[in-house]
Amino acid sequence: MTGFDTRAIHAGQEPDPRTGAVVVPIYATSTYKQDGVGGLREGYEYSRSANPTRTALERSLAAIENGERGLAFASGLAAEDTLLRAVCRPGDHVILPGDAYGGTYRLIARVCANWGLDFTPVPLGDLDAVRAAVRPETRIIWCETPTNPLLGVADIAALAGIAHEAGARLVVDNTFASPYLQQPLALGADVVVHSTTKYLGGHSDVVGGALVVADAELGEQLTFHQNAMGAVAGPFDSWLVLRGIKTLGVRMDRHCANAERVVEFLGEHPAVAQVLYPGLPSHPNHEVAARQMSGFGGMVSFRLRGGEEAALKVCGLVEVFTLGESLGGVESLIEHPGRMTHASVAGSPLEVPNDLVRLSVGIEDAGDLLADLTAALA
Ligand SMILES: *Cc1c(COP(=O)(O)O)cnc(C)c1O
Repeated sequence: MTGFDTRAIHAGQEPDPRTGAVVVPIYATSTYKQDGVGGLREGYEYSRSANPTRTALERSLAAIENGERGLAFASGLAAEDTLLRAVCRPGDHVILPGDAYGGTYRLIARVCANWGLDFTPVPLGDLDAVRAAVRPETRIIWCETPTNPLLGVADIAALAGIAHEAGARLVVDNTFASPYLQQPLALGADVVVHSTTKYLGGHSDVVGGALVVADAELGEQLTFHQNAMGAVAGPFDSWLVLRGIKTLGVRMDRHCANAERVVEFLGEHPAVAQVLYPGLPSHPNHEVAARQMSGFGGMVSFRLRGGEEAALKVCGLVEVFTLGESLGGVESLIEHPGRMTHASVAGSPLEVPNDLVRLSVGIEDAGDLLADLTAALA
């Protein structure tokens, strides 16, 4: 199975051997009958350790990211926490993006820091700044590309080089791009992180997270921690993400096409001061994005000439776009990062401009999205 969409539909999901069911069942069970003490069927013992619906999802995740092992968690942050505590020890150091996802920053700065993890936020687009921030204790360079909500782009291959030279690992949060548009492991990353809540689930009906690794030994270490820490994805949540992944390719094509229309529209609108989108030739790292992504995604941010007041007003006036946090679902969402998703980083180095509006452009008819923005910006 070499094509992405074929893997997304079939990998890890052979028809059920007993009934021929084409769709992997939801194995709503906590435990498994043993054939004599220790006589496990296919290794299933207890559903924190493994559950067949989750196994199918984990194989699918590994296949679509071209990794050795995939692991599914209760949320993106549960995946991140498990990774950080598996790989880092007190006294270790992490480099993270200067505009990291707010929850990632909060986890590192306000939870892990209490356990002795040191960290430095760095603008990852500036490779010299990244090199300068590396220390002997640096265990992880944490990369998001594109970033949230400023749509910054980092060079994955270059960062992998810097990380490996320093004996550290490169972790890429691939939530915004999705594996359909960007394959970090092929570019040298060691670990891919996902909030499957977003594009992989794709329908705003589940919270979940994932890790995918290139190295079998790290895969074993993370599997141990996944079971020891217990933040696993349940069978129903796993099933929803598995179902979402099957249509990832067609959804992403439409997200990208609609986002392009929105970007074009906003770029010509007199109320808009700046549009942030990796597909724009004016984006400072457009060339890197064009090299490492096969499309530029459905996330678009823009700044308003009228400042915060105008930004809040647009958020309140739209009707097709739904005012809400999160992203990556079929429905278009709008939000004000400064007051919503990024409120927790106010006053920190990660604070975002208050005239900024972020769109998760959905897969509705583009004409309706443009009409909605036209009315809200008028
Ligand atoms: C949402 C998100 C997360 C956190 O995932 P949850 O599923 O909400 O825990 C991490 N990184 C990025 C880029 C996100 O958008």
